[in-house]
Amino acid sequence: MEKAIAIIGAGIGGLTTAMLLKQKGFEPTVYESAPSIQPVGAGIVMANNAMQVYKKAGIQHTIEQAGNKITVMKITDERLKPISVMELSKYESVYGVYNVAIHRAALQRILAEETGFENIILSKRLLRIEQNENYQLSFEDGTVAHTDVVIGADGIKSVVRKQLFNTGEIRDAQQVCWRGICEMNLSEKYQHEANELWGKGKRFGFVKISDSKVYWYAVASKWLVKENSQSLTELLNEFHPEVLAMINATPQENIFISDITDLEPISTWAKDKACLLGDAAHATTPNMGQGACQAVEDAYTIAQLLGAGKEIKDAFASYEKRRIKKAHDIVKRSWSVGKISHIENGALIWLRNIAMKSLPGSANNKLLDKIFDISNLG
Ligand SMILES: Cc1cc2nc3c(=O)[nH]c(=O)nc-3n(C[C@H](O)[C@H](O)[C@H](O)COP(=O)(O)OP(=O)(O)OC[C@H]3O[C@@H](n4cnc5c(N)ncnc54)[C@H](O)[C@@H]3O)c2cc1C
Repeated sequence: MEKAIAIIGAGIGGLTTAMLLKQKGFEPTVYESAPSIQPVGAGIVMANNAMQVYKKAGIQHTIEQAGNKITVMKITDERLKPISVMELSKYESVYGVYNVAIHRAALQRILAEETGFENIILSKRLLRIEQNENYQLSFEDGTVAHTDVVIGADGIKSVVRKQLFNTGEIRDAQQVCWRGICEMNLSEKYQHEANELWGKGKRFGFVKISDSKVYWYAVASKWLVKENSQSLTELLNEFHPEVLAMINATPQENIFISDITDLEPISTWAKDKACLLGDAAHATTPNMGQGACQAVEDAYTIAQLLGAGKEIKDAFASYEKRRIKKAHDIVKRSWSVGKISHIENGALIWLRNIAMKSLPGSANNKLLDKIFDISNLG
């Protein structure tokens, strides 16, 4: 008899896993706590490595059409003068996919449609998971389900991780993040660029996600925010006028504020017939724009291994082995980038920027070569 597979969480990680498993002939059930698949109103960049997976899944063009292709990533100073420029054309021609900036809701809608809404059960918040001869899932609404296999894709505060793996410390990066989407006609030169502007202990990023929509985020060291009870435009008033225009063009109620956190790397993602993926396994600070992309790599690896007919336990153990180093390298590097980007001392900022400008392009390329390479996943 076919084994029952439960995926907890309908985020990008859970839905991508469900879609890929369905393509391999499995019939997973996704349990999602929210009453609808409505992620925070923000954008996201799905980088080349994730888009390679979506190409294999046959949804590359659907995602590209719903979003915007990004061909250059830039780090600049607060007046938009470049510090570091990463050209992506090499990877576009090698892998046949672009980095795509897209509204989170649009991406999750595509993934949910591919998964099939009949396979996603909403308003099912997992409260308790117990392992006997199979797994018993108890939900907030008083219902209970049994499953042979559990995939915990329930985010950084994962109940599956806490209860089955008994681990996971969430770290506070001491930075606050604002996210918003505005309607705006961006200057022609920014149409296919992702820009991040670094100031003193604060930064601002923006990218076009569709014909008329621009997604932006601001990040500031917590102490700056605590000491200043000023508005976001006042906090960023030395930034380029385009920055202030984007914030002003965003209705206040559509700006989301959150702390920047991550999960201290954990050594076990798989145990018997259960595993963790995405933020539940390796939540990272967003400084490399790779959190969701790494979840997509997890999903692909699991689907490949299960699809090859491996025993569940062996498949999950192999998944952990194939994925853990890269995911943890990103968590660690991203944490450091968060610190470097928030230097506040003027002389150190000057030195940092000089050092970054003088880095040969090959240094950035080496990093992207590694991140975009998914050849070891199976
Ligand atoms: C500011 C910011 C910017 C980012 N930008 C990027 C980017 O550009 N590119 C990128 O790749 N990544 C980015 N990330 C990271 C990315 O958002 C996450 O890594 C990704 O969304 C993780 O997906 P996930 O499916 O693992 O978890 P989540 O998105 O957290 O999904 C978990 C799901 O599980 C559900 N759930 C939780 N608990 C339960 C429960 N008990 N029972 C049932 N359901 C439950 C939740 O409702 C949710 O739907 C960014 C993150 C932040 C904070």
